[in-house]
Amino acid sequence: MKIVNSIKELKNFLSKEKENGFSVGFVPTMGALHQGHISLVNRCVGDNHVCVVSIFVNPTQFNDKKDLETYPRTPEKDITLLESAGCNYLFAPSEHEMYPEPDTRVFDFGQLTEVMEGEHRPGHFNGVAQIVSKLFAAAEPDRAYFGEKDFQQVAVIRAMTKQLHLPIQIIACPILREADGLAMSSRNVRLTKEQCQKAPLIAQTLKESTNFAVGKSVKDVTAYVTDTLNKEPVMRVEYFDIVDGYTLLSINDWSETTYPVGCIAVFCGEVRLIDNITYEIK
Ligand code: AMP
Repeated sequence: MKIVNSIKELKNFLSKEKENGFSVGFVPTMGALHQGHISLVNRCVGDNHVCVVSIFVNPTQFNDKKDLETYPRTPEKDITLLESAGCNYLFAPSEHEMYPEPDTRVFDFGQLTEVMEGEHRPGHFNGVAQIVSKLFAAAEPDRAYFGEKDFQQVAVIRAMTKQLHLPIQIIACPILREADGLAMSSRNVRLTKEQCQKAPLIAQTLKESTNFAVGKSVKDVTAYVTDTLNKEPVMRVEYFDIVDGYTLLSINDWSETTYPVGCIAVFCGEVRLIDNITYEIK
């Protein structure tokens, strides 16, 4: 695996690969890699001749300075994991490389970014679009891989790719979970021992809510999930919305969509965790 720090160098390497007719797959990450990330890398390696992974903790997408400062960084472990997964290029730029000057671009994704993460993390998706568009311009991949754990992010990236007319196929990959159901996340390492024991309740409650949903209204299910989790002193639900999985607009009745998805953000102590689940209402 080649480790590349500059855009120019990455472009040089990848243009040679493309001249040879090789397809390029790309997985953008913020590092502190776990098996959830590696599942994306595995898919990327399987689908493409060349797999590029980026590690960059993007300051413009953090609306909370403390979250940025405490974001875990494990560069050596990341390199080992990527090498054994068969990644060909690790792109690990500096902040100056990605933002030689402040990025003043303002994206407009309409309703997609007005709800859920967009509502509770002002500026977050604008920062995501800034960095992912720059990374796309640097790697010019044929395909790019994103996890469904960040459900809204996938929708935003698809919208951005369309807006910018980029010839990149966006591929959404399923959520990887711990054996107890907890969605894998780089932030999980920040949980205390007690919080670690409680955090799986988020996924368990979402799963239980799919059984509870039979014959119940959207409002009942929303209250069930929110109340169950808020009963735990260590948890505070920031939002739980059942939305149309395509438009991300909240639904009031199951008949409003063929693709209902429940999206949640919960503070477990100080750590903010997100997760989601699809309902199959017959
Ligand atoms: P991050 O490093 O948190 O920005 O994540 C990089 C990519 O990995 C994003 O597309 C995430 O959605 C994806 N990802 C993170 N956690 C998981 C997981 N548990 N399962 C699948 N994909 C994930």
